[in-house]
Amino acid sequence: MENNNYNRRKFLLDSTKASLAVGVGLSSAGSFLQGCGPTKKGLSNLANLWAPGYEQAPLPYAWNALEPSIDKETMNIHYSKHAAAYAKSVKEAMTAENVDSATTSITQLLGNISKYTPKMRNNAGGHYNHELFWQLMKPGGDKTPGGSLLAAINKDFGSLEAFKTKFEDAGKTRFGSGWAWLIKNGDGKLQVASTANQDNPLMDISEIKGAPLLALDVWEHAYYLKYQNKRPEYITNWWNVVNWTVVESRFSAVG
Ligand code: MN
Repeated sequence: MENNNYNRRKFLLDSTKASLAVGVGLSSAGSFLQGCGPTKKGLSNLANLWAPGYEQAPLPYAWNALEPSIDKETMNIHYSKHAAAYAKSVKEAMTAENVDSATTSITQLLGNISKYTPKMRNNAGGHYNHELFWQLMKPGGDKTPGGSLLAAINKDFGSLEAFKTKFEDAGKTRFGSGWAWLIKNGDGKLQVASTANQDNPLMDISEIKGAPLLALDVWEHAYYLKYQNKRPEYITNWWNVVNWTVVESRFSAVG
């Protein structure tokens, strides 16, 4: 523990960005997962958070079910080509790097991702992010988050509208490819973040760590067929298909 405390102090001294300060208590993915080390135990039950297996789960709705927000052709190519490639490649990387899928969950793998190759990082992230993304949408969507989640959004962002604006900005300003996130951080607070490429807040290399509650894919492949260069319009329309019920259950599962 002496060592952990030292590392935590060093981590704080090394941190110049305010955004990093929220990572306090999450000094390593291992302690994050085991509830050992962090001063705050809010996210020690991260394992309670639904996580995908290594196989692609069937899409829980038809290709055209999210129209008009997301068109049929985009859903088909996104799931059958892009996401399928991540699922295939992460298994190749696991074989090459001796990761046993029977004993290592993808959450654990992501939490130790710095120990593996870029191929593992890109594809483990890509697989997790997409499997989660499909679950976070549903035909017709839910109009607003309910219950305890809405209360927390109001508390941590001021209002639902303020949260949405912040989340939209995270997606709009992500340069190149990446994701926008709503996470629950180590202090049990909600936070908006964005990551590049297929990184996510479960990764030990991520600047902002926490439990992913809501995720938005802002890669061009997620919207280009219908929206071309109009990423902001895609983001605005995406709210119409958000499955807030799933987001709320994720919020309740951790912390
Ligand atoms: Mn994608």
